[in-house]
Amino acid sequence: MEKIKMSTPLVEMDGDEMTRIIWQQIKDELLLPYIDLNTLYFDLGLPQREQTADQITVDAANATREYGVAVKCATITPNQQRVEEYKLTEMWKSPNGTIRAILDGTVFRAPIMVKGISPVVKTWKRPITIARHAYGDVYRATEYRVPGPGVAELVFTGADGRDFRQTVYEFECAGVLQGQYNKDSSICSFARSCFQYALDTRQDLWFSTKDTISKKYDHTFKDIFQDIYDKEYRQQFEQLGLTYFYTLIDDAVARVIRSQGGFIWACKNYDGDVMSDMVSTAFGSLAMMTSVLVSPDGKYEYEAAHGTVTRHYYRYLEGENPSTNPMATLFAWTGALAKRGELDGNGELVDFARKLERAAIQTIEGGIMTKDLAGLWEGETPATAVDTGVFLQSVKLRLEQLLQA
Ligand code: NAP
Ligand code: MG
Repeated sequence: MEKIKMSTPLVEMDGDEMTRIIWQQIKDELLLPYIDLNTLYFDLGLPQREQTADQITVDAANATREYGVAVKCATITPNQQRVEEYKLTEMWKSPNGTIRAILDGTVFRAPIMVKGISPVVKTWKRPITIARHAYGDVYRATEYRVPGPGVAELVFTGADGRDFRQTVYEFECAGVLQGQYNKDSSICSFARSCFQYALDTRQDLWFSTKDTISKKYDHTFKDIFQDIYDKEYRQQFEQLGLTYFYTLIDDAVARVIRSQGGFIWACKNYDGDVMSDMVSTAFGSLAMMTSVLVSPDGKYEYEAAHGTVTRHYYRYLEGENPSTNPMATLFAWTGALAKRGELDGNGELVDFARKLERAAIQTIEGGIMTKDLAGLWEGETPATAVDTGVFLQSVKLRLEQLLQA
């Protein structure tokens, strides 16, 4: 078979630890034999970030802006322990944070569903994608521990000299105080990314906040979404038979649990943080959760939702063959390749990516899987737990069959 050609390069961001090992295995076994892989390679592994004073991360993000599609391996976000382990000159920022700031995007997380591993919520038949606004609110709040009696005020001093002042609370004892903010520009980007992704994936979009209680803050989110929907997206949604649906966050939670899935649920920053962990756990496993960052102007960065799986990596370094689940990393690759193919009108590449996904799902549904899934397995055939290498070889066998069919 002749290798599939790629006209536009895909931005490739390598990473750390166990996922870096899996990254190479996926390329060697499942991609390079079939595709003339055209990538712009950026090594975001921690040693290279240290070497370049993190410039490599900025370069990779800028390349994504230029070329439109990227695939990223999990990377270490350094803490004090990592600073010592890797002898870092600085505690480099989270690469995902840096990339997000440059692309101004929204993160969409969706589970990979397979027969034999059923969601805890029995009614869920299709994936639920959580769209989390990854900017502001409690994550950028200013907090104060009130030591005792006194007056707390909200003060805003406008650049034009006008100001606003209102009492928050007259404390008669000690307490706590917090100031949160968000920006219209960021909320607009969030809204556009959500509407765009709903159109791309042909799914309904739900959005929820607590606007009945938060009459200025949350209500602004609701109004901006509605305004952008009416002006820019309503027509396309109606043409495709898709729905934009706003509801209160507590109502949304109840409806999500009773739903069959198959939609995107857009959440404010904190709600998205909490709900994405709940939804991913209910779907089975973090190792089966994919993630894509979508910018409001349609740039895409695909990755796994999990980290570098450090504990498995240390076992790997001791000579073990760990049973680390490569599904989310593999689907990051197939998602990116399919998107690249779609944008370039390269049907062969899209077709290959879809077949590779099917091969991986069929492998699990046929009873061959990594340890994390074997524990959740409810399928008819007994599960065989294998290490990552054997799993990928089994996927390759299935892939060859699908390619020949
Ligand atoms: P993690 O790498 O996601 O792993 C946490 C645990 O979840 C693992 O120890 C493992 O449990 C299980 N797990 C996760 N992915 C798995 C997979 N593919 N197959 C099987 N089991 C899997 O999270 P972490 O240990 O908190 O973080 C490790 C490093 O990753 C940190 O340095 C962090 O900064 C980084 N991180 C990066 C990203 C990113 O780049 N997007 C995201 C999160 C964390 P068992 O050990 O019980 O098998
Ligand atoms: Mg969280």
